[in-house]
Amino acid sequence: MPLLSGTSYTGTASKIANKYWFDRVQTGLTVKNNDSVNKITVYVADNERTLAPGETFVFDEEFEYFHVKTKNKTASFTATVATNLTSLQADNAQQNYSRKLLPSVLDEGKIIEGFENAADWTVTGTGTVTANTAQFQEGSQALKVNVTTNAGSVVMEKSLTSPRNLFFANRRLFLRFYVHQYANAITSLASLKIEFAVDTAWVYYCHTTISLKNLHKGWNCIALPINRELTWTFVSSAWTDTFQKIRLTITADTGVQGAITLDSLKMGFKGVPKFVVMFDDGHKSVRDIAFPYMAAKNIPGTFYVSQDRIGVDPYLGTDDLLRIQSFGWTIANHTKGHTAMSGTDSATFLAQIKDHATWLSAQGFNGSKHVAYPGGSHDDNTVLRMAKYNMYTGRSTQGYNNLGTIADEQYRLNIIYMTNNFDLTTLKYYLDLVRDSGTTGFLVFHRISDTPADNYDILTSKFYGVIDYLDNNNCDCITIDDWYKGNYGEMQ
Ligand SMILES: [Zn+2]
Repeated sequence: MPLLSGTSYTGTASKIANKYWFDRVQTGLTVKNNDSVNKITVYVADNERTLAPGETFVFDEEFEYFHVKTKNKTASFTATVATNLTSLQADNAQQNYSRKLLPSVLDEGKIIEGFENAADWTVTGTGTVTANTAQFQEGSQALKVNVTTNAGSVVMEKSLTSPRNLFFANRRLFLRFYVHQYANAITSLASLKIEFAVDTAWVYYCHTTISLKNLHKGWNCIALPINRELTWTFVSSAWTDTFQKIRLTITADTGVQGAITLDSLKMGFKGVPKFVVMFDDGHKSVRDIAFPYMAAKNIPGTFYVSQDRIGVDPYLGTDDLLRIQSFGWTIANHTKGHTAMSGTDSATFLAQIKDHATWLSAQGFNGSKHVAYPGGSHDDNTVLRMAKYNMYTGRSTQGYNNLGTIADEQYRLNIIYMTNNFDLTTLKYYLDLVRDSGTTGFLVFHRISDTPADNYDILTSKFYGVIDYLDNNNCDCITIDDWYKGNYGEMQ
């Protein structure tokens, strides 16, 4: 992009968030979305604002730069400042705000339901289905489903736009949705049941149920494996049938209510499955048990460590971590003092994450901008600061429990929690879901032990079983840094 001067600049937003610099601190940025179809998202200081087609917004923050992007294709925008603008530099380096999907997502598929019209649906149960024009990514709106009684359900049903064979080989269904925060809970939803019927009387149909527990607030995507019938039950029907009706049942968790916004359901999703083997905290058992076993199979790991713990028993020291890194591992950021980030201020963020990243880099560690929030603890402000300070990824301890991750929120990555609660059969079932859905499995371990003391200790033989499975099935195992570069491009 050219170097510009003047008080206003008209540019094109794309999927990559472009960064625009001013030569001094500015206030009073006005951004107009010139597009008639697509939204744009503008990041200014700690503020993030999504502008509808044609919308203009005035930011009152002090800032030196802002970012702008759009989810779909491109959109024209005009940015204006009132005074003092001597040069406006457009920096086309790929920045970290991009929420584009993996390049390993070969095809996101084609919309079979856009959730554009609440009146299309027959709604029963305890709750409401209403238009949501504040949170949507495709089309002109989404549908917000509010479950208004504790542990209640909303059931919504309609005919598909056209009868379809939904399940063709090696392709998946793909659902994009937004999880609303309710009270103080991370999420208060229990499950989403999806059903398709061949007939109008629901005699011939199929169904699957997805756990919605532990989802992160904000945008989520899931891909549903279909062709291996791993998760679908067919009642007097088969995956080769033509289906004409859809029914969704959204159920709130015990003792609470919940809300979800449905944006799009697609068929024909195709992705390449990947696995990232992660270890939190820096325990010696990773050096002694996990590392040699993985090295023998050429599987790299990602190790999240904290400055205040490095070299303090039972945690590894710098020399050991650097040696492990030299075998292709990524050594990443678990905050300086293993500090919960939710509810903390900017100074805490700087000390615990940003300055800690600088310190890790100074020791020679290669993944300092990849962060795992201790205990998964983070909030909306943490995410905004992660973007502001150009961190690469942020990892929660939340997950779908049974499905792999598709990147839609790079600072709230979901995981598969590898605890000693699970037997090896269960763990392999999860790995199959990742493989068959074409998504990424972030497998999070802590300690490995022959005599597990709690759920954070995973039995050595169980750990070996997981690694053997990845190895025997030729799973693509990478580090968080490789995953990031694959999805978001090399940093410049
Ligand atoms: Zn930890």
